[in-house]
Amino acid sequence: MRSEKAAEFDPFKLARENIVRLKPYSSARDEFSGSARIFLDANENPLGSPTSEAFNRYPDPYQRTLKDQIGRLEGVDAERIFLGNGSDEAIDLLFRVFCEPRTANCIICPPTYGMYEVAAGINDVEVRRVPLSEDLELDADGVIGSADENTRLVFICSPNNPTGNAMDLDSVARVAESMNGLVVVDEAYIHFSTGTSAADLVEPFPNIVVLRTFSKAWGLAGLRVGIAIADPRVISLLNKVKPPYNLSDAAMNRLLEAIGNEQRVRSMVEEITGLRDELARSLADLPVVERVFPSDANFLLARFPDPSAVYSFLLERGIVVRDRSRLERCEDCLRISVGTRSENEKLIDALDEFGRPMK
Ligand SMILES: *Cc1c(COP(=O)(O)O)cnc(C)c1O
Repeated sequence: MRSEKAAEFDPFKLARENIVRLKPYSSARDEFSGSARIFLDANENPLGSPTSEAFNRYPDPYQRTLKDQIGRLEGVDAERIFLGNGSDEAIDLLFRVFCEPRTANCIICPPTYGMYEVAAGINDVEVRRVPLSEDLELDADGVIGSADENTRLVFICSPNNPTGNAMDLDSVARVAESMNGLVVVDEAYIHFSTGTSAADLVEPFPNIVVLRTFSKAWGLAGLRVGIAIADPRVISLLNKVKPPYNLSDAAMNRLLEAIGNEQRVRSMVEEITGLRDELARSLADLPVVERVFPSDANFLLARFPDPSAVYSFLLERGIVVRDRSRLERCEDCLRISVGTRSENEKLIDALDEFGRPMK
């Protein structure tokens, strides 16, 4: 892809024809963006809002201030950034822009994040499954072999949910190089990983899309903000289809506040990765735990002889974990998010109790 193929890459040929032709909705804010003192163009309430902060005006549909800040944060140009109502919105838009229902197909690498398959189902797009290898690595040759001229999206989650491991970026690049479709690298957990980001691959491989979110390391799951980093033409197609005001002023203002406090995120990530490593050791020491998988994320996948009994036992003690035991390659596994030190201790105590013979 680096050379001639990169020059050949044309997202407008990959996208659905109706989307390329589409004339996007033109909002009041699109038709007038200069400075005025009296805004009588958007049917807003002129008096204010019944809240301490005023929200009576529509937000900037282009999210310019926020994109500049995020661009600086991530070291990418604002024109390479799409902002969505969570990265889940970006996943859905990728299907709606690039996948013709009942014609296009996508490739996922299970066990992986469930939303890819759900979004494919909603959009009536065939899902091809190329499982991770026994050692949970990306099967690049398998992906390349499963792709055909109708393959529009390949989802690679790195670090992967629910296995926790980061994928080899050379394999990701090899997949991108051998395909015309988009290779979507979901980096929801990248902040917890010592590995490098695929964001640096977006320029040499314009068919790579990197997804990030403020929901995990940034501690802002309730605000609903996700990012796609991609070729500016791919971004322009996503922008064409998104609802005009997909991020609220409430979310954008809080996010600007958060970006100003980035140091706090760095220290939380450090604390969480420390707690993760401690929790991994404590789990591994328990006789009831068969295996703890290495993690580049803020959760651990652990194997138990009887996962559903463990799950119910924990639930009776008010501790809820995620049962992933029915997923291929995750047989008998529970996924455990890293909690606070005291939450993790309560979990370990409960598992210890489960493992003790009953009196
Ligand atoms: C949690 C998660 C997301 C998050 O999505 P948001 O909509 O941004 O909250 C995306 N991808 C993966 C793999 C996740 O685990």
